[in-house]
Amino acid sequence: MNKKSVFGPDYRLGILGAGQLGKMLAIAAADWHLPVRALDQSGDFPAGPYCAQFTEGNFNDPDAVYAFGKALDVLTIEIEHVAIDALFRLEAEGVAVHPRPGALAVIKDKGLQKQFWARHGLPTASFRLYDDGDAVRQALDAGQIHFPFVQKSRTEGYDGRGVAVIRSQADWNKIMDTPCVVEDLVPIQKELAVIVSRNTAGEVAAFPAVEMTFHPEANLVEFLLCPARIPAEVEQAAEALALRAIEAFDICGLLAVELFWTTAGELLINEVAPRPHNSGHHTINSCYTSQFEQHLRGILGLPLGSTHMTSPSVMLNLLGEPGHSGPAHYEGIGECLAMEGVKIHLYGKAQTKPFRKMGHVTVLDADLDRAMAKAREVQGRLKVKVKGGKVKVEK
Ligand code: ADP
Repeated sequence: MNKKSVFGPDYRLGILGAGQLGKMLAIAAADWHLPVRALDQSGDFPAGPYCAQFTEGNFNDPDAVYAFGKALDVLTIEIEHVAIDALFRLEAEGVAVHPRPGALAVIKDKGLQKQFWARHGLPTASFRLYDDGDAVRQALDAGQIHFPFVQKSRTEGYDGRGVAVIRSQADWNKIMDTPCVVEDLVPIQKELAVIVSRNTAGEVAAFPAVEMTFHPEANLVEFLLCPARIPAEVEQAAEALALRAIEAFDICGLLAVELFWTTAGELLINEVAPRPHNSGHHTINSCYTSQFEQHLRGILGLPLGSTHMTSPSVMLNLLGEPGHSGPAHYEGIGECLAMEGVKIHLYGKAQTKPFRKMGHVTVLDADLDRAMAKAREVQGRLKVKVKGGKVKVEK
């Protein structure tokens, strides 16, 4: 048990990853003047300027992770895909690693994650696991699975093509050749996310549920609305499920739980992330405690903060404009800053690329419909393009 004071001069907190989540964690830590150390490939990444100490290295390299972690009191992550063996070693040697590596190993693998839900009696879409594309095709031929279904790569990084919806025989060639989960295609009424937190004393708290809306053509989340427009009993049930999930995993810090509210009125867990999450960015501006502060409270053994919402909000990701690759230029930012309740967060990525997450905008308004209308206005005005209007056409 580490007795060193979190607020003392020599407390050492480290993060694997220095993207936008690491940056926002470091900014939250700055409220308490806690210095943050980060490991990632370049100090030019978003968190770089906000870290007291930066180590250049690869968080997938076990030696780099071990060397970085062994000097720390607490180690956390902003991304799941890290050298997990080094985390087990650090944990065994007394470094507090949050989320605990055992839980991370399950969450990183969508197959193990689904089996975990089944084992703990937590509702999720029916599934089967297969070793490769041929095994999926054989299962189809044998009538074990039926169209339509969703095929998911068990571990991410499959050429960015981790999820395929296979509707009919015509999609035969879309079946991915990778160890995978095959799930029933669920008729979804709404996609929700609930971020829950837990501290080392076992205290838990849930942020209000968020409703995600999707762009009709590009299959991307478009707006995140809080509160979600769902009946109070669905909200309560979603929070209760998310709390059961974090307790089952026995982790400290955050667990972001993505859920489907089906057309039949059921709630199913889709997947989870044991760290700050895109669906919680609005909390920086719209809740008593931000998800980043809550994560710190959870992993540092502090009391959890109130998750009370101070204002309804609509969040939109600021994505690189299609057709633009190069030095980022923020078109329309002045007009958007002039709008009441519009909070702009830029991640400081020098180069934009089509659909790259360059920042996010949270729109606050006492009336959620008005917040939505303003969010659409921001979406139409604020564009991340290439400086000077130079356009490199993407094929
Ligand atoms: P990722 O890890 O890429 O976010 P998800 O598992 O969240 O992958 O799936 C991405 C999207 O695909 C979901 O947000 C949802 O819209 C759709 N989807 C995933 N699983 C199912 C399912 N079983 N039924 C229906 N739609 C699904």
